Amino acid sequence: MTASAPTSVIVIGGGIGGFASALVLRRLGADVRLLEQAPEFGEVGAGLQMSPNATRLLKRWGLLDEAIASGVAPRRVVFRDATTGEDILDQDVTGEFRERYEAPYIVAHRADLHRLLARTAQEAGVRTHNSVCVESVAETPDGVRAVTTDGREFTADAVIAADGIKSAVRRQLFSADEPVSSEYVAYRGAIPTSSAAHAEDLDSVVVWLGPECHLVQYPLRDGELFNTVAVYRSRSFAAGRLEYEGADELRAAYTDCVPAVRDALTNVNDSLRWPMFDREPLSTWNKGRVCLVGDAAHPMLQYLAQGACQALEDAGTLERLAEEIIFGADGDASRWPEVFERFTDLRQAKTARVQTTARAWGEAWHLAGPIERTVRNMLFGSADRHGVWEYTDWLYGPQPADRLDAGTTVEGDRSGTSVRA
Ligand SMILES: Cc1cc2nc3c(=O)[nH]c(=O)nc-3n(C[C@H](O)[C@H](O)[C@H](O)COP(=O)(O)OP(=O)(O)OC[C@H]3O[C@@H](n4cnc5c(N)ncnc54)[C@H](O)[C@@H]3O)c2cc1C
Repeated sequence: MTASAPTSVIVIGGGIGGFASALVLRRLGADVRLLEQAPEFGEVGAGLQMSPNATRLLKRWGLLDEAIASGVAPRRVVFRDATTGEDILDQDVTGEFRERYEAPYIVAHRADLHRLLARTAQEAGVRTHNSVCVESVAETPDGVRAVTTDGREFTADAVIAADGIKSAVRRQLFSADEPVSSEYVAYRGAIPTSSAAHAEDLDSVVVWLGPECHLVQYPLRDGELFNTVAVYRSRSFAAGRLEYEGADELRAAYTDCVPAVRDALTNVNDSLRWPMFDREPLSTWNKGRVCLVGDAAHPMLQYLAQGACQALEDAGTLERLAEEIIFGADGDASRWPEVFERFTDLRQAKTARVQTTARAWGEAWHLAGPIERTVRNMLFGSADRHGVWEYTDWLYGPQPADRLDAGTTVEGDRSGTSVRA
Protein backbone atom coordinates (compact mmCIF):
# COMPACT_ATOMS: atom_id res chain seq x y z
CA MET A 1 0.00 0.00 0.00
CA THR A 2 1.34 3.46 -0.84
CA ALA A 3 0.23 6.92 0.17
CA SER A 4 -1.13 7.49 -3.33
CA ALA A 5 -3.27 4.35 -3.22
CA PRO A 6 -4.96 4.21 0.15
CA THR A 7 -6.88 1.10 1.01
CA SER A 8 -10.60 1.53 0.33
CA VAL A 9 -13.49 0.58 2.61
CA ILE A 10 -17.25 0.57 2.11
CA VAL A 11 -19.34 1.03 5.24
CA ILE A 12 -22.98 -0.04 4.81
CA GLY A 13 -25.31 1.90 7.10
CA GLY A 14 -25.15 5.44 8.46
CA GLY A 15 -26.24 4.91 12.06
CA ILE A 16 -24.03 5.57 15.08
CA GLY A 17 -22.06 2.35 14.47
CA GLY A 18 -21.48 3.00 10.76
CA PHE A 19 -20.33 6.58 11.21
CA ALA A 20 -18.01 5.71 14.11
CA SER A 21 -16.29 2.97 12.08
CA ALA A 22 -16.11 5.18 9.00
CA LEU A 23 -14.59 8.02 10.99
CA VAL A 24 -11.78 6.05 12.61
CA LEU A 25 -10.77 4.25 9.40
CA ARG A 26 -10.81 7.48 7.42
CA ARG A 27 -8.62 9.13 10.03
CA LEU A 28 -6.14 6.27 9.72
CA GLY A 29 -5.92 7.03 6.00
CA ALA A 30 -8.48 4.75 4.33
CA ASP A 31 -10.61 5.93 1.44
CA VAL A 32 -14.06 5.42 3.00
CA ARG A 33 -17.47 5.44 1.34
CA LEU A 34 -20.59 5.15 3.50
CA LEU A 35 -23.80 3.90 1.88
CA GLU A 36 -27.13 4.62 3.57
CA GLN A 37 -30.51 3.43 2.37
CA ALA A 38 -32.48 6.39 3.80
CA PRO A 39 -32.73 9.57 1.73
CA GLU A 40 -31.41 11.57 4.71
CA PHE A 41 -29.32 10.77 7.76
CA GLY A 42 -31.00 11.03 11.13
CA GLU A 43 -31.88 9.49 14.47
CA VAL A 44 -35.08 9.31 16.49
CA GLY A 45 -35.86 12.09 18.97
CA ALA A 46 -34.86 10.33 22.17
CA GLY A 47 -31.98 10.01 24.61
CA LEU A 48 -29.04 7.66 24.80
CA GLN A 49 -27.00 6.72 27.85
CA MET A 50 -23.29 6.45 27.19
CA SER A 51 -21.18 4.63 29.77
CA PRO A 52 -17.42 5.13 30.22
CA ASN A 53 -16.42 2.24 27.93
CA ALA A 54 -17.89 4.41 25.16
CA THR A 55 -17.04 7.89 26.45
CA ARG A 56 -13.36 6.89 26.79
CA LEU A 57 -13.47 6.41 23.02
CA LEU A 58 -15.28 9.69 22.41
CA LYS A 59 -12.49 11.28 24.45
CA ARG A 60 -9.80 9.58 22.34
CA TRP A 61 -11.51 10.76 19.16
CA GLY A 62 -11.73 14.35 20.46
CA LEU A 63 -15.54 14.32 20.59
CA LEU A 64 -16.28 14.06 24.30
CA ASP A 65 -16.40 17.75 25.16
CA GLU A 66 -18.94 18.44 22.44
CA ALA A 67 -20.97 15.37 23.42
CA ILE A 68 -21.11 16.57 27.03
CA ALA A 69 -21.84 20.16 26.01
CA SER A 70 -24.92 19.05 24.11
CA GLY A 71 -25.85 16.40 26.70
CA VAL A 72 -25.66 16.01 30.46
CA ALA A 73 -23.20 14.25 32.77
CA PRO A 74 -25.56 12.99 35.51
CA ARG A 75 -24.43 12.63 39.10
CA ARG A 76 -26.36 9.47 39.91
CA VAL A 77 -28.08 6.44 38.43
CA VAL A 78 -31.02 5.59 40.66
CA PHE A 79 -33.21 2.48 40.61
CA ARG A 80 -36.59 3.01 42.25
CA ASP A 81 -39.50 0.68 42.95
CA ALA A 82 -42.37 1.94 40.79
CA THR A 83 -45.03 0.47 43.07
CA THR A 84 -43.78 2.05 46.32
CA GLY A 85 -41.59 4.96 45.20
CA GLU A 86 -38.68 3.69 47.35
CA ASP A 87 -35.08 3.92 46.17
CA ILE A 88 -33.54 0.48 45.62
CA LEU A 89 -30.04 1.38 44.41
CA ASP A 90 -28.41 4.78 44.14
CA GLN A 91 -25.09 4.73 42.30
CA ASP A 92 -22.89 7.80 42.23
CA VAL A 93 -21.35 8.01 38.75
CA THR A 94 -19.02 10.93 39.48
CA GLY A 95 -15.94 10.88 41.76
CA GLU A 96 -14.55 7.39 42.28
CA PHE A 97 -16.64 5.95 39.42
CA ARG A 98 -15.27 8.45 36.94
CA GLU A 99 -11.71 7.99 38.19
CA ARG A 100 -11.95 4.20 38.04
CA TYR A 101 -13.17 4.18 34.43
CA GLU A 102 -11.27 7.29 33.33
CA ALA A 103 -14.29 8.85 31.66
CA PRO A 104 -17.75 10.09 32.59
CA TYR A 105 -21.19 8.53 32.34
CA ILE A 106 -23.18 10.82 30.07
CA VAL A 107 -26.62 11.05 28.52
CA ALA A 108 -27.04 12.57 25.08
CA HIS A 109 -29.75 13.24 22.58
CA ARG A 110 -29.42 10.58 19.88
CA ALA A 111 -29.73 13.12 17.11
CA ASP A 112 -26.93 15.23 18.65
CA LEU A 113 -24.51 12.32 18.98
CA HIS A 114 -25.35 11.04 15.52
CA ARG A 115 -24.90 14.52 14.01
CA LEU A 116 -21.57 14.89 15.79
CA LEU A 117 -20.24 11.59 14.43
CA ALA A 118 -21.65 12.21 10.93
CA ARG A 119 -20.31 15.74 10.69
CA THR A 120 -16.85 14.74 11.97
CA ALA A 121 -16.68 11.79 9.60
CA GLN A 122 -17.71 13.93 6.62
CA GLU A 123 -15.22 16.66 7.58
CA ALA A 124 -12.52 13.98 7.79
CA GLY A 125 -13.32 13.01 4.19
CA VAL A 126 -15.78 10.11 4.43
CA ARG A 127 -17.83 10.15 1.22
CA THR A 128 -21.49 9.56 2.01
CA HIS A 129 -24.27 8.39 -0.31
CA ASN A 130 -27.95 8.42 0.63
CA SER A 131 -30.78 6.45 -0.97
CA VAL A 132 -28.39 3.55 -1.58
CA CYS A 133 -29.78 0.26 -0.33
CA VAL A 134 -27.27 -2.60 -0.46
CA GLU A 135 -28.82 -5.91 -1.40
CA SER A 136 -25.75 -8.17 -1.43
CA VAL A 137 -21.99 -8.28 -1.22
CA ALA A 138 -19.56 -10.58 -3.04
CA GLU A 139 -15.82 -11.06 -2.86
CA THR A 140 -13.85 -10.42 -6.05
CA PRO A 141 -10.27 -11.65 -6.63
CA ASP A 142 -8.84 -8.56 -4.91
CA GLY A 143 -11.69 -6.91 -3.08
CA VAL A 144 -15.42 -6.81 -2.42
CA ARG A 145 -18.38 -5.69 -4.51
CA ALA A 146 -21.57 -4.30 -2.96
CA VAL A 147 -24.63 -4.48 -5.18
CA THR A 148 -27.61 -2.22 -4.53
CA THR A 149 -31.31 -2.93 -4.94
CA ASP A 150 -31.36 -0.71 -8.05
CA GLY A 151 -28.45 -2.55 -9.63
CA ARG A 152 -25.56 -0.21 -8.88
CA GLU A 153 -22.19 -1.62 -7.86
CA PHE A 154 -19.56 -0.26 -5.47
CA THR A 155 -16.18 -1.93 -4.99
CA ALA A 156 -13.54 -1.64 -2.27
CA ASP A 157 -10.81 -3.59 -0.48
CA ALA A 158 -13.16 -4.33 2.42
CA VAL A 159 -16.78 -3.98 3.52
CA ILE A 160 -18.02 -3.18 7.01
CA ALA A 161 -21.73 -3.91 7.38
CA ALA A 162 -23.28 -1.62 10.00
CA ASP A 163 -26.77 -2.12 8.60
CA GLY A 164 -28.60 -2.67 11.88
CA ILE A 165 -30.69 -5.43 13.41
CA LYS A 166 -32.32 -6.31 10.08
CA SER A 167 -28.92 -6.50 8.34
CA ALA A 168 -29.14 -7.78 4.77
CA VAL A 169 -25.44 -8.75 4.87
CA ARG A 170 -25.93 -10.83 8.02
CA ARG A 171 -28.74 -12.71 6.31
CA GLN A 172 -26.81 -13.19 3.09
CA LEU A 173 -23.44 -14.30 4.50
CA PHE A 174 -23.80 -15.39 8.09
CA SER A 175 -27.16 -16.57 9.34
CA ALA A 176 -30.81 -16.96 8.44
CA ASP A 177 -31.76 -16.35 12.08
CA GLU A 178 -34.65 -14.02 12.78
CA PRO A 179 -34.89 -11.22 15.37
CA VAL A 180 -36.24 -12.55 18.68
CA SER A 181 -39.34 -10.82 20.06
CA SER A 182 -39.02 -9.64 23.68
CA GLU A 183 -42.79 -9.10 23.91
CA TYR A 184 -41.96 -5.64 25.29
CA VAL A 185 -42.57 -2.32 23.53
CA ALA A 186 -41.07 1.13 24.18
CA TYR A 187 -42.65 4.57 24.02
CA ARG A 188 -40.29 7.52 24.04
CA GLY A 189 -40.38 11.28 24.41
CA ALA A 190 -37.87 14.13 24.75
CA ILE A 191 -39.83 17.29 25.53
CA PRO A 192 -39.04 20.69 27.10
CA THR A 193 -38.35 20.17 30.79
CA SER A 194 -40.61 23.12 31.60
CA SER A 195 -43.64 21.27 30.21
CA ALA A 196 -42.79 17.75 31.45
CA ALA A 197 -44.77 16.13 34.25
CA HIS A 198 -42.66 15.20 37.28
CA ALA A 199 -39.42 16.49 35.78
CA GLU A 200 -37.49 15.89 38.98
CA ASP A 201 -34.03 14.52 39.91
CA LEU A 202 -32.48 16.61 37.16
CA ASP A 203 -28.97 15.44 38.09
CA SER A 204 -29.87 11.74 37.71
CA VAL A 205 -30.85 8.89 35.47
CA VAL A 206 -33.88 7.39 37.24
CA VAL A 207 -35.13 3.90 36.42
CA TRP A 208 -38.51 3.00 37.92
CA LEU A 209 -39.00 -0.78 38.12
CA GLY A 210 -42.59 -2.00 37.98
CA PRO A 211 -44.36 -5.32 37.36
CA GLU A 212 -43.77 -6.16 33.69
CA CYS A 213 -42.94 -2.51 33.05
CA HIS A 214 -40.35 0.16 33.70
CA LEU A 215 -39.88 3.85 33.10
CA VAL A 216 -36.56 5.67 32.54
CA GLN A 217 -36.14 9.43 32.97
CA TYR A 218 -33.20 11.78 32.54
CA PRO A 219 -32.43 15.32 31.36
CA LEU A 220 -30.90 16.15 27.96
CA ARG A 221 -29.31 19.22 26.36
CA ASP A 222 -28.05 20.78 29.56
CA GLY A 223 -31.40 20.17 31.22
CA GLU A 224 -33.53 21.92 28.59
CA LEU A 225 -35.16 18.67 27.52
CA PHE A 226 -36.51 15.84 29.63
CA ASN A 227 -36.28 12.32 28.25
CA THR A 228 -38.77 9.60 29.19
CA VAL A 229 -38.89 6.00 28.01
CA ALA A 230 -41.81 3.77 29.01
CA VAL A 231 -41.36 0.05 28.39
CA TYR A 232 -43.90 -2.65 29.18
CA ARG A 233 -44.93 -6.15 28.24
CA SER A 234 -47.47 -5.72 25.49
CA ARG A 235 -50.16 -8.36 25.11
CA SER A 236 -50.75 -7.33 21.51
CA PHE A 237 -47.04 -7.57 20.63
CA ALA A 238 -46.74 -10.84 22.54
CA ALA A 239 -49.56 -12.12 20.35
CA GLY A 240 -47.44 -11.25 17.32
CA ARG A 241 -49.05 -7.94 16.33
CA LEU A 242 -46.40 -5.32 15.53
CA GLU A 243 -48.70 -2.50 14.52
CA TYR A 244 -49.66 0.30 16.88
CA GLU A 245 -52.88 -0.43 18.76
CA GLY A 246 -53.57 2.79 20.67
CA ALA A 247 -52.40 4.06 24.06
CA ASP A 248 -54.92 2.27 26.30
CA GLU A 249 -52.63 -0.72 26.70
CA LEU A 250 -49.78 1.62 27.70
CA ARG A 251 -51.77 3.26 30.49
CA ALA A 252 -53.17 -0.04 31.75
CA ALA A 253 -49.63 -1.48 32.05
CA TYR A 254 -48.76 1.10 34.74
CA THR A 255 -51.92 0.79 36.87
CA ASP A 256 -50.00 -0.55 39.88
CA CYS A 257 -47.41 2.22 39.80
CA VAL A 258 -47.20 5.36 41.95
CA PRO A 259 -48.71 8.61 40.54
CA ALA A 260 -45.25 10.03 39.71
CA VAL A 261 -44.82 7.18 37.21
CA ARG A 262 -48.38 7.16 35.87
CA ASP A 263 -48.34 10.93 35.38
CA ALA A 264 -45.00 10.74 33.59
CA LEU A 265 -46.64 8.74 30.79
CA THR A 266 -47.88 12.08 29.46
CA ASN A 267 -44.22 12.86 28.63
CA VAL A 268 -43.96 10.17 25.94
CA ASN A 269 -45.31 10.31 22.42
CA ASP A 270 -48.11 7.79 22.87
CA SER A 271 -48.90 7.57 19.16
CA LEU A 272 -45.79 5.58 18.27
CA ARG A 273 -44.32 2.46 19.82
CA TRP A 274 -41.17 0.47 19.21
CA PRO A 275 -41.49 -3.31 19.51
CA MET A 276 -38.24 -4.54 21.08
CA PHE A 277 -36.18 -7.33 19.50
CA ASP A 278 -32.71 -8.81 19.89
CA ARG A 279 -31.06 -11.89 18.40
CA GLU A 280 -29.14 -14.88 19.66
CA PRO A 281 -25.36 -14.30 19.80
CA LEU A 282 -23.68 -15.18 16.51
CA SER A 283 -20.35 -17.01 16.62
CA THR A 284 -18.87 -15.47 13.46
CA TRP A 285 -19.20 -11.99 12.02
CA ASN A 286 -16.34 -12.06 9.52
CA LYS A 287 -16.01 -13.74 6.17
CA GLY A 288 -12.94 -12.83 4.13
CA ARG A 289 -13.04 -9.09 3.51
CA VAL A 290 -16.53 -8.56 4.96
CA CYS A 291 -17.36 -7.95 8.59
CA LEU A 292 -20.48 -7.08 10.62
CA VAL A 293 -20.44 -4.43 13.37
CA GLY A 294 -22.96 -2.85 15.75
CA ASP A 295 -26.54 -4.10 15.78
CA ALA A 296 -25.91 -6.06 12.59
CA ALA A 297 -23.46 -8.25 14.56
CA HIS A 298 -24.86 -8.22 18.10
CA PRO A 299 -28.30 -6.63 18.50
CA MET A 300 -29.28 -6.51 22.15
CA LEU A 301 -32.14 -5.43 24.37
CA GLN A 302 -31.60 -1.95 25.79
CA TYR A 303 -31.65 -2.81 29.50
CA LEU A 304 -27.89 -2.35 29.96
CA ALA A 305 -27.98 0.76 27.72
CA GLN A 306 -25.17 -0.72 25.64
CA GLY A 307 -26.17 -1.13 21.96
CA ALA A 308 -24.60 2.12 20.78
CA CYS A 309 -21.77 1.84 23.33
CA GLN A 310 -20.86 -1.59 21.94
CA ALA A 311 -20.99 -0.20 18.40
CA LEU A 312 -18.43 2.42 19.48
CA GLU A 313 -16.29 -0.32 21.06
CA ASP A 314 -16.43 -2.13 17.72
CA ALA A 315 -15.15 1.00 15.99
CA GLY A 316 -12.42 1.50 18.59
CA THR A 317 -11.26 -2.11 18.24
CA LEU A 318 -11.26 -1.94 14.43
CA GLU A 319 -9.24 1.25 14.71
CA ARG A 320 -6.59 -0.42 16.87
CA LEU A 321 -6.39 -3.52 14.67
CA ALA A 322 -6.32 -1.66 11.35
CA GLU A 323 -3.66 0.63 12.77
CA GLU A 324 -1.50 -2.35 13.69
CA ILE A 325 -2.14 -4.64 10.72
CA ILE A 326 -3.02 -2.46 7.72
CA PHE A 327 -1.51 0.93 8.44
CA GLY A 328 1.61 -0.38 10.20
CA ALA A 329 4.99 -0.24 8.46
CA ASP A 330 4.60 -3.51 6.56
CA GLY A 331 0.83 -3.60 6.30
CA ASP A 332 -1.14 -3.87 3.11
CA ALA A 333 -4.77 -3.95 2.01
CA SER A 334 -4.80 -7.70 1.45
CA ARG A 335 -4.70 -8.15 5.22
CA TRP A 336 -8.30 -7.04 5.92
CA PRO A 337 -9.38 -10.67 6.50
CA GLU A 338 -6.82 -10.85 9.32
CA VAL A 339 -8.16 -7.60 10.83
CA PHE A 340 -11.70 -8.93 10.76
CA GLU A 341 -10.73 -12.36 12.12
CA ARG A 342 -8.95 -10.84 15.10
CA PHE A 343 -11.76 -8.33 15.54
CA THR A 344 -14.30 -11.11 15.93
CA ASP A 345 -11.97 -12.98 18.31
CA LEU A 346 -11.59 -9.92 20.50
CA ARG A 347 -15.21 -8.80 20.49
CA GLN A 348 -17.54 -11.78 20.23
CA ALA A 349 -17.44 -13.12 23.79
CA LYS A 350 -17.91 -9.69 25.35
CA THR A 351 -20.86 -8.73 23.17
CA ALA A 352 -22.47 -12.15 23.62
CA ARG A 353 -22.25 -11.61 27.35
CA VAL A 354 -23.83 -8.17 27.02
CA GLN A 355 -26.64 -9.64 24.89
CA THR A 356 -27.44 -12.42 27.34
CA THR A 357 -26.98 -10.27 30.45
CA ALA A 358 -29.29 -7.60 29.02
CA ARG A 359 -32.03 -10.21 28.73
CA ALA A 360 -31.50 -11.41 32.30
CA TRP A 361 -31.32 -7.82 33.56
CA GLY A 362 -34.65 -7.06 31.87
CA GLU A 363 -36.23 -10.08 33.53
CA ALA A 364 -35.01 -8.88 36.95
CA TRP A 365 -36.39 -5.40 36.28
CA HIS A 366 -39.80 -6.70 35.26
CA LEU A 367 -40.50 -9.26 38.00
CA ALA A 368 -44.21 -9.31 38.74
CA GLY A 369 -44.65 -11.28 41.97
CA PRO A 370 -44.39 -9.32 45.24
CA ILE A 371 -42.00 -11.82 46.86
CA GLU A 372 -39.70 -11.90 43.85
CA ARG A 373 -39.73 -8.13 43.76
CA THR A 374 -38.86 -7.85 47.44
CA VAL A 375 -35.93 -10.26 47.07
CA ARG A 376 -34.79 -8.42 43.94
CA ASN A 377 -34.87 -5.09 45.79
CA MET A 378 -32.85 -6.54 48.68
CA LEU A 379 -30.23 -7.93 46.28
CA PHE A 380 -29.94 -4.67 44.35
CA GLY A 381 -29.70 -2.80 47.65
CA SER A 382 -26.91 -5.04 48.91
CA ALA A 383 -24.92 -4.27 45.75
CA ASP A 384 -25.19 -0.65 46.82
CA ARG A 385 -23.66 -1.43 50.22
CA HIS A 386 -20.92 -3.75 48.98
CA GLY A 387 -19.95 -1.72 45.94
CA VAL A 388 -20.95 -2.25 42.37
CA TRP A 389 -17.53 -2.75 40.77
CA GLU A 390 -17.90 -6.51 40.47
CA TYR A 391 -21.01 -5.89 38.35
CA THR A 392 -19.62 -3.06 36.24
CA ASP A 393 -15.89 -3.70 35.72
CA TRP A 394 -16.36 -6.24 32.93
CA LEU A 395 -18.62 -3.81 31.09
CA TYR A 396 -17.00 -0.43 31.68
CA GLY A 397 -13.38 -1.40 32.46
CA PRO A 398 -10.45 -1.61 29.98
CA GLN A 399 -11.33 -3.21 26.65
CA PRO A 400 -9.44 -4.14 23.48
CA ALA A 401 -10.94 -0.95 22.02
CA ASP A 402 -8.66 0.89 24.48
CA ARG A 403 -5.62 -1.34 24.10
CA LEU A 404 -5.54 -4.56 22.12
CA ASP A 405 -3.98 -6.45 25.02
CA ALA A 406 -6.57 -5.18 27.51
CA GLY A 407 -8.31 -8.37 28.54
CA THR A 408 -11.93 -8.30 29.55
CA THR A 409 -13.06 -10.62 32.31
CA VAL A 410 -15.22 -12.47 29.82
CA GLU A 411 -14.75 -16.20 29.73
CA GLY A 412 -15.78 -18.07 26.68
CA ASP A 413 -15.25 -18.70 23.06
CA ARG A 414 -17.09 -17.56 20.00
CA SER A 415 -20.07 -19.80 20.63
CA GLY A 416 -21.59 -17.40 23.13
CA THR A 417 -22.83 -20.37 25.13
CA SER A 418 -20.01 -20.50 27.66
CA VAL A 419 -20.13 -16.83 28.47
CA ARG A 420 -20.91 -15.97 32.06
CA ALA A 421 -23.99 -13.78 32.46
C1 LIG B 1 -35.61 2.09 23.40
C2 LIG B 1 -34.14 1.95 23.15
C3 LIG B 1 -33.24 2.52 24.02
C4 LIG B 1 -31.86 2.39 23.82
N1 LIG B 1 -31.02 2.98 24.70
C5 LIG B 1 -29.68 2.86 24.51
C6 LIG B 1 -28.78 3.50 25.42
O1 LIG B 1 -29.20 4.19 26.37
N2 LIG B 1 -27.43 3.35 25.20
C7 LIG B 1 -26.95 2.61 24.15
O2 LIG B 1 -25.72 2.50 24.00
N3 LIG B 1 -27.79 2.00 23.28
C8 LIG B 1 -29.13 2.12 23.43
N4 LIG B 1 -29.99 1.53 22.54
C9 LIG B 1 -29.43 0.73 21.42
C10 LIG B 1 -28.92 1.61 20.27
O3 LIG B 1 -29.94 2.48 19.85
C11 LIG B 1 -28.52 0.73 19.07
O4 LIG B 1 -27.80 -0.39 19.51
C12 LIG B 1 -27.64 1.51 18.11
O5 LIG B 1 -28.29 2.67 17.67
C13 LIG B 1 -27.25 0.61 16.92
O6 LIG B 1 -26.52 1.38 15.98
P1 LIG B 1 -26.12 0.76 14.59
O7 LIG B 1 -25.43 1.85 13.84
O8 LIG B 1 -25.42 -0.53 14.76
O9 LIG B 1 -27.51 0.39 13.87
P2 LIG B 1 -28.69 1.34 13.39
O10 LIG B 1 -28.82 2.55 14.23
O11 LIG B 1 -29.89 0.46 13.23
O12 LIG B 1 -28.23 1.84 11.94
C14 LIG B 1 -28.28 1.03 10.81
C15 LIG B 1 -28.29 1.94 9.59
O13 LIG B 1 -28.15 1.13 8.42
C16 LIG B 1 -29.09 1.54 7.46
N5 LIG B 1 -29.34 0.39 6.60
C17 LIG B 1 -30.01 -0.75 6.94
N6 LIG B 1 -30.01 -1.62 5.92
C18 LIG B 1 -29.32 -1.03 4.90
C19 LIG B 1 -28.96 -1.44 3.60
N7 LIG B 1 -29.33 -2.65 3.12
N8 LIG B 1 -28.25 -0.59 2.82
C20 LIG B 1 -27.88 0.63 3.29
N9 LIG B 1 -28.19 1.08 4.53
C21 LIG B 1 -28.89 0.24 5.34
C22 LIG B 1 -30.29 2.00 8.28
O14 LIG B 1 -31.14 2.84 7.54
C23 LIG B 1 -29.60 2.69 9.44
O15 LIG B 1 -29.33 4.04 9.15
C24 LIG B 1 -31.37 1.64 22.71
C25 LIG B 1 -32.28 1.07 21.82
C26 LIG B 1 -33.63 1.23 22.02
C27 LIG B 1 -34.56 0.61 21.04
